[in-house]
Amino acid sequence: MRRHNLGTVLAHLHRDGQLSRADLTARLGLNRSTIGALVGELVSLGLVVETAPSGGRGGAGRPSLDVRPNPHAAVVVGVEVGVDVLSGALVGLGGQVLVRASTPTPASRRPDLVAGAVVRLARRLVAGAPEAAVLLGLGVGVPGVVREPGGVVRFAPNLGWVDVPLADLLRSRMGADLRVTVGNDADLGALAEHTRGAAVGCDDIVFLAADAGVGGGVIVGGHPLHGVGGYAGELGHLMVNPRGRTCRCGSRGCWETEIGAEAIGAALRLESTDLDSLAGRLRQVHRPSAALRSVGRYLGLGLGCIVNVLNPEVVVLGGVLRTLYPVVSADVDQALASVALQAPREQVRVLVPALGGDSVLLGAAEKAFEPVLTDPARELGAACRDAAAAFAVVGRGHAVPA
Ligand SMILES: [Zn+2]
Repeated sequence: MRRHNLGTVLAHLHRDGQLSRADLTARLGLNRSTIGALVGELVSLGLVVETAPSGGRGGAGRPSLDVRPNPHAAVVVGVEVGVDVLSGALVGLGGQVLVRASTPTPASRRPDLVAGAVVRLARRLVAGAPEAAVLLGLGVGVPGVVREPGGVVRFAPNLGWVDVPLADLLRSRMGADLRVTVGNDADLGALAEHTRGAAVGCDDIVFLAADAGVGGGVIVGGHPLHGVGGYAGELGHLMVNPRGRTCRCGSRGCWETEIGAEAIGAALRLESTDLDSLAGRLRQVHRPSAALRSVGRYLGLGLGCIVNVLNPEVVVLGGVLRTLYPVVSADVDQALASVALQAPREQVRVLVPALGGDSVLLGAAEKAFEPVLTDPARELGAACRDAAAAFAVVGRGHAVPA
């Protein structure tokens, strides 16, 4: 019980930043002395710091101390595996990005080469960690269906991967017994936007992101929708056009063939379909072409189906959709309205990510933080040993490859 309460206090601080002891007492429904003891233990672990309130709060008795997470005490590495780019960040407790780095995805996209590149990226990030920081884990997001636990990428058509044991490949290259979690990129985007983005306070959300493919992450009643094997939410393979193009999954007319990067690139008459090129061109569009408006209509049609099935409060459009949506929002909204039933349509808001292009990266980091938010003392004890090894092998004191 005490361990659980310790984790809950830390989770509130990690998510919301600075809170007073009085806030924590009210939120957890525990008495002041219990909160004081829990905060004291977190202070002694170095995970949080306490300060006198700056505002000079009035009222009777002593002012309640402010408590905040210490981003330099415990860190994780988050990596988003994209088709073209590997993006990484070293993230401190509280969700603060401390260091960023990225590197091209190996052109062959061979799993062993990608795993090696992810580990080299993690090394660069860990080398920039604060002096006394404990490394808690590595979280990785991939554009594919992932079996959790185990971290096996069952199918990632846009990487050409089938049954790739990515977590094992990473662990064997880290040279340390570091906790590695692998998740579906859109599931992680949903987690991050729910925790500290556009969907904070909303328990029914859909995160939809278009890159080469289109991924979906769904949170229902505050809990991620997994399905029996962990593969739920493959929204990109909703069939929207029976006479459409062949999809990389082998089917025809999947949603991602109509609203993915290739479809948007074709509508913009662009050769290159990397996200920066697409986003750059989309920002220059003042009057969308008929082809681009058609992409917008397909986006709205699919969203209408999702709204009917899931009755979400918020749909967050990530990846290149966050740049596309403002350009064709009239077409998207009209098509959505034509498909969705009035009752769920009245309740849904379509938003772009509050975390910009970082939703997946920060979601990967959030996943890596989860164990310490459940049992801080145990995780920190385990991570200290792991971190010593991980730092020795992948970080300080060694030449850091670029
Ligand atoms: Zn498909």
